[in-house]
Amino acid sequence: MIIDWQQIDTVLLDMDGTLLDLHYDNYYWVEHLPKLYADKHDLSIDQAKRTITPILAAKYGQLEWYSTDYWSNEFDIDIATTKAAYDVAQKISFRPHAEKFLEFLNKSGKQVWMVTNAHRDVLTIKCDRLVLEPHFEHLISSHDFGFSKEQTHFWQALKDAFPFDPERSLFVDDSVPILRTAQDFGIKHLRAISHPDSQKPEKDTEEFLDMPMANLI
Ligand SMILES: [Mg+2]
Repeated sequence: MIIDWQQIDTVLLDMDGTLLDLHYDNYYWVEHLPKLYADKHDLSIDQAKRTITPILAAKYGQLEWYSTDYWSNEFDIDIATTKAAYDVAQKISFRPHAEKFLEFLNKSGKQVWMVTNAHRDVLTIKCDRLVLEPHFEHLISSHDFGFSKEQTHFWQALKDAFPFDPERSLFVDDSVPILRTAQDFGIKHLRAISHPDSQKPEKDTEEFLDMPMANLI
């Protein structure tokens, strides 16, 4: 279904998996961090994965899950520095048509805000690699408010800090639980991303329609 742009003043965009290929983040957490952990503790990669995976999973969807400080402490590995290392950071890239989508939004005169669960230092790593900042009125990290986007409190805190009309807003995210929270809060126009990681198969976006970035007009 085509989006009726006349009905929308504010566009809220997730970063990872929506504008940027989630492959970089998945690669870091699933492949690179276990390697670093294995080296540090003299384990095999498989042993490291078996140790790390349940520790990560226990915090899934919570603010800590997105916090580089939290995991640096937990694993005694500098997450921000190792995420910024050249061989890893070169995987940071836009999803297909994401830049075209941003240019379209900027030309259309909409308010365009990034709304991410990424920690500020990860946001900086990404802004250092790609031209992101000029496209946005605000770059919002949920860590600034102390709630993740999965929590209704986040949306209220966002609206208090930067007033917007949920009825006249479009929010795009690759996470179905986050889209549901935004819907419960009252954001009227919602779109999902069916292919957040270029190296993985498409996923089911359940009750949400896919955001067609390639065909905007
Ligand atoms: Mg995302």
